[in-house]
Amino acid sequence: MALRDIVIFPDPRLREISQPVETIDEEIRTLVSDMQETMYYNEGAGLAAVQVGAHRCIFIADPVLAGGTREDPTLVYINPEILDSEGDQVGDEGCLSFPGIFVPVPRPSKVTIRAMGMDGETFEQTGEGILARAFLHETEHLNGQLLIDKVGRLKAQFIKRKLKRAADKK
Ligand SMILES: [Zn+2]
Repeated sequence: MALRDIVIFPDPRLREISQPVETIDEEIRTLVSDMQETMYYNEGAGLAAVQVGAHRCIFIADPVLAGGTREDPTLVYINPEILDSEGDQVGDEGCLSFPGIFVPVPRPSKVTIRAMGMDGETFEQTGEGILARAFLHETEHLNGQLLIDKVGRLKAQFIKRKLKRAADKK
């Protein structure tokens, strides 16, 4: 496993569309295991492949989001597709590509996803609360959509300024 660099907004690579995975080969297995190491190292709850600069339709999530523990296998979603959503929730949302930014984003409270697992089998899963939020947030990454698209214009300007200041300091 290897730690990969997180792509930080406004890097244009975050806007590129990810490509579906056809076979789970060595390259994909390495990518997923690197993503796991990178997510946990950065204390993220979810990570899309595009955030480490790999434009493949894959995201992972911390099993804690599904009521498990850190010792459980990382949740892996390949070629995810949102099937259904219902309800409402508002909560603060963050993203490893927007370090230090947490903004309230309204989301459905219950979301059903279909995806392929590392075993190549397709599965469906319904997530509530924070897991529902992660399903939507991470699937949007694969389409080049970002947290900043979910907030108003003023908040978006604030986020851009804050990240620019942080980048200038480096
Ligand atoms: Zn994100």
